[in-house]
Amino acid sequence: MSKKVMLRRKITLCRFDDMHCHFRDETLLKEVLPFTAKYCGRAIAMPNTRPRAILNAKDVIWYRDKIKMVLDKIPKMSFFKPLMTIEIRDNTTPQMIVDAHRVGAVAGKIYPLGVTTNSDQGLREFFSNGIKETFRTMQDVGMICLIHGELDSPRKLFIEREEAFLPIFLQLVENFPNLKTVLEHVSTEKGINMVAQLGNNIAGSITAHHPILTLNDSRLNPNNICNPSPNRFEDRDAVLKAMTSGSPKFFLGSDSAPHLREQKECANIHCGVFTAPILPSLLCEIFEIAGCLDKLENFTSRFGAEFYRLPPNKGKIDLIKKEWTVPSQYGSVVPFMAGAKLQWQLM
Ligand SMILES: [Zn+2]
Repeated sequence: MSKKVMLRRKITLCRFDDMHCHFRDETLLKEVLPFTAKYCGRAIAMPNTRPRAILNAKDVIWYRDKIKMVLDKIPKMSFFKPLMTIEIRDNTTPQMIVDAHRVGAVAGKIYPLGVTTNSDQGLREFFSNGIKETFRTMQDVGMICLIHGELDSPRKLFIEREEAFLPIFLQLVENFPNLKTVLEHVSTEKGINMVAQLGNNIAGSITAHHPILTLNDSRLNPNNICNPSPNRFEDRDAVLKAMTSGSPKFFLGSDSAPHLREQKECANIHCGVFTAPILPSLLCEIFEIAGCLDKLENFTSRFGAEFYRLPPNKGKIDLIKKEWTVPSQYGSVVPFMAGAKLQWQLM
């Protein structure tokens, strides 16, 4: 770490683009949205809500209105804009893509069947003639393809699921060379290497928890359990290296994924880590320890916008260096690093 970085007491950053965020619905939406809206100019609203999933243009309008109703009730939140998405399922047609894109959906999200929360109706077949037409339409209209890159298959441990998916990812990229595609929450060395080697239409989003956790940490704390799972030390190090590399192929997608405390600290745990309340503080600390605080703003606020062809956010946020303790709970949800001390505070 350079002396200049060590002496910094305050940092001003352009508002973030969080390119992967779960806002849920009803009570949780009201509880969690204000955290993200406080420091983001925009965030990708994930479509795997239940009971109503976001699958088409009507759903997009319905969910955006719900988010806006919550935002309207919070003072000074009008500058925040949700970026809408739809789930891509086996029955998603080209016309559904055109219609959803027309009402503002910027991306389509693929959950392979059964790999994570609410993926019970995920995509079964990546290369059927029907779904190929759907991908082609996404490519034509400029809808970004977001992929939860894991494959659930026999005799595979859950920590091997991202690696197992990579051949499918590669085939998809080869079939649709102009489809802008994001391998989301990249969590393995092999995933990072693949994204780095592919063309500029391929990017990887990175969470704030995968550069910190290994399988050891998630084994002991249900609030650290998520998909893709934290993995080996080598994987964690590769994610951190990509995040702090300054490469525009890697940008922030927190995958902040709140669940009620009773759904986390129980049998049949819901997977997901809730980072939204601590995200700016945690990222400052990660980049400061890595000795490259100067690269933080590109990761949080520039590379994602450029990939999505969006103008930079206008507003700024300030953080000061002042130790604080992460609360044990925010509303109904236990945050990531509950009870731990962090060194930077959002003002
Ligand atoms: Zn997610």
